[in-house]
Amino acid sequence: MNEYKKLLEKAMKDKPKECIQRDRCEIPKVTGRIQGNTTIITNFGQISKFFNRDPNQILKFLLRELATPGKLDNSWLIFNRKLNPKLINEKLEKYASIYVFCYECKKPDTKIVTENNKLYLKCMACGAKNHVRQ
Ligand SMILES: [Zn+2]
Repeated sequence: MNEYKKLLEKAMKDKPKECIQRDRCEIPKVTGRIQGNTTIITNFGQISKFFNRDPNQILKFLLRELATPGKLDNSWLIFNRKLNPKLINEKLEKYASIYVFCYECKKPDTKIVTENNKLYLKCMACGAKNHVRQ
């Protein structure tokens, strides 16, 4: 049992590394449901973890892009409108292309840094630093 647990922990630890080594990581697709007039995204926590960004920052971007009110509820994202998941996935891809994937090597291993009131996307993999196009 202990041995198994160790193996499991090792597998979990190795996972992100594999992801970084791949040329490009697949963005998780949204999963959720429509309930009445709302759209509930239940894996938003997983998505923000994948992006390694503050969920509130991603939320702000999505609300602006989709022109829809919404809020975070624990790790859920709730939109006050019926939305096509395909559209949300497209917006997440747009977010990732601006704020997550390195402009040079396309890896998601990046950080947002602020210098002189300007946002830069800094890549931990190749060292590139690019002004964020907003
Ligand atoms: Zn890079």
